[in-house]
Amino acid sequence: MQYGSTAEGGGNSLRPAAGAGGIPRVHTSEKRGKEPYTAMTKKELTLEIIRRLKKEYPIADCTLDYDQAWKLLVSVRLAAQCTDARVNVVVEDLYKKYPDVSALADAPVEEIEKIVKPCGLGHSKARDISACMKILRDEYGCRVPDNFDALLKLPGVGRKSANLIMGDVFKKPAIVTDTHCIRLVNRMGLVDNIKDPKKVEMALWKLVPPEEGNDFCHRLVHHGRDVCTARTRPFCDKCCLRDICGKNGV
Ligand code: SF4
Repeated sequence: MQYGSTAEGGGNSLRPAAGAGGIPRVHTSEKRGKEPYTAMTKKELTLEIIRRLKKEYPIADCTLDYDQAWKLLVSVRLAAQCTDARVNVVVEDLYKKYPDVSALADAPVEEIEKIVKPCGLGHSKARDISACMKILRDEYGCRVPDNFDALLKLPGVGRKSANLIMGDVFKKPAIVTDTHCIRLVNRMGLVDNIKDPKKVEMALWKLVPPEEGNDFCHRLVHHGRDVCTARTRPFCDKCCLRDICGKNGV
């Protein structure tokens, strides 16, 4: 995968908007008369958000439980339109019955579907998991490939899942643009009203240092669940980013 290079300065200090040098500035909420004013380049803002979220959420863990790479592949497919908490429960039964890649590859799709049904979209998820496990067994010796493009070719694996595997399993640079990530980076002003996951991913590659991407995205999930919530109004008053966030659409 091509990782984007930064087009802006790399400093991480807070500084007032000077508008000098043609560097794009983030238009923060004070310009709209709501909050104290801090203006940074998007790059600076990103680095400051990363710094603060690290402090707020020292542990940047994946919320899907897994102890082997193939299990994360299964779980991330099941997590589409389902909560990670429910997936973590459902897979317990799945792995009790089918404890390894070969066993799951040999399992009838209908049997997989019966178990994963509580996650929703049972048929298509069971079909993808079955096809994916067969490929792992037949082409990769029951191992998960550590290559982004190879992962993308697996049934049911999109960019979000492939990035998650690359980051979490293989500790490679990754940007996982799930629903929390997309909502939060728009609100914060790191991207400007971009909802397409791939476009958000590409924009973030230009802002987030590669080695920080995977943990940053995990921290966005934690922040999105605890503070910058989707279903209620976000709890901006207790947010560690309240003085630097664009609060776009809030
Ligand atoms: S909770 Fe409010 S201040 Fe914090 S990131 Fe979300 S929109 Fe910004």
